[in-house]
Amino acid sequence: MALQNFEFCNPTRIVFGQETIKKLDDLIPATAKVLIIIGGGSVRKNRTLSEVEAALGNRQFAVFEGIEPNPTFETSMKAVEKIRQENFDFLLGVGGGSVMDATKFIAGAVHYKGDAWEIVTNGGSNITSVVPFGFVPTLPATGSEMNCGGVISRKSTNDKLPIHNDLLYPLFSILDPTKTYSLPKNQVANGVADAFVHIMEQYLTYPIHAAVPDRFAEGLLLTLIEEGPRTLNNPEDYEARANFIWAATMALNGLIGAGVPQDWATHMIGHELTILYGIDHGRTLSILLPSLMNEMRKDKHGKLVQYGRRVWGLQGNDEEKIIDEAIAKTRAFFESLGIQTYLKDYDVDSSAVNKVVEQLNRHQLTALGEKGNISPEVARRIVEASL
Ligand code: NAP
Ligand code: FE
Repeated sequence: MALQNFEFCNPTRIVFGQETIKKLDDLIPATAKVLIIIGGGSVRKNRTLSEVEAALGNRQFAVFEGIEPNPTFETSMKAVEKIRQENFDFLLGVGGGSVMDATKFIAGAVHYKGDAWEIVTNGGSNITSVVPFGFVPTLPATGSEMNCGGVISRKSTNDKLPIHNDLLYPLFSILDPTKTYSLPKNQVANGVADAFVHIMEQYLTYPIHAAVPDRFAEGLLLTLIEEGPRTLNNPEDYEARANFIWAATMALNGLIGAGVPQDWATHMIGHELTILYGIDHGRTLSILLPSLMNEMRKDKHGKLVQYGRRVWGLQGNDEEKIIDEAIAKTRAFFESLGIQTYLKDYDVDSSAVNKVVEQLNRHQLTALGEKGNISPEVARRIVEASL
């Protein structure tokens, strides 16, 4: 099978490197009234916020603080109210994926007539206009800095759901590696794992002849395998951090996904684990992916063998053995980052299995995977194998 038909257009401007925050002055209209959106305060402590404020010069601005990890609808709506009341006309998200995703939702909700939760239940498709926005990302992981997706949670109803819309590409993202030096080790590990699994969701599917996406994906996986441990152990090694950041962005900016089937079941099941048990996003993926690879080994056979050979350098003609080793290598990689890969490591017991299946049914996530054949019963086996 050949590459599928596709359109590819990524309009986000990336400004990469040290001392680039000052370029905000060129990127944001001089007359803009800017709402800076931040999380729980890490960007105050590491002084990213003060650099951003200085770069805004004479522009009017205010700061909305308090976007939580796994950003909620409830908190985001407080920002929406503030924007409506005070007429901000530019949004600047400064922080990790949670701040970026929340900013996207907020940008799309300001002009939305009706209950803005409908944006989430419709997967973002009903957004028709946005308040212009850009980002200063401080956590390499999600790729949100250069894609048109986000994930929003509502605590009161145990929902964590994705939104997508072409209007949700940021106008720009300023990637200054030094602004990530203050990240704790566990967040760097989460970021490496999240980026790794983003690539796998687009690469590890049933095989088609997709030489360009495959070679890009394998290059990015190898980059994460090489630079991930290096940047984890030497946070202020600029070279390693810069390569990790660019790999994480490239992992989910649409390029390697153009023209190929995509899976995303690990993410969808992982979202249920996060909303039910509060396990960090990158960790849910590290728990589920090895089990999913094993469960789907017939459908993904050829690609699993290719992955084992090209990414992990496995040799021999026994393809089932290569697949077993490729799965073991993948799990060992996550563990080497300090990420535990079984649910019991997070004090989650077998009662999780039914709960996750119930959630998948309630969210109508009943035909996951690139073939749509990961039913709730298949997902049940994947979660059982992850206990
Ligand atoms: P995050 O939730 O944005 O941040 C995690 C923690 O890291 C926060 O406590 C944050 O603190 C802290 N932090 C951020 N930057 C820091 C820095 N430079 N120094 C010190 N601490 C820092 O983590 P994330 O992994 O980037 O985002 C996870 C969310 O993104 C999940 O909801 C996930 O589902 C979603 N996601 C989105 C996409 C997408 O395509 N849009 C893809 C995958 C996942 P503060 O709050 O104090 O800033
Ligand atoms: Fe992710």
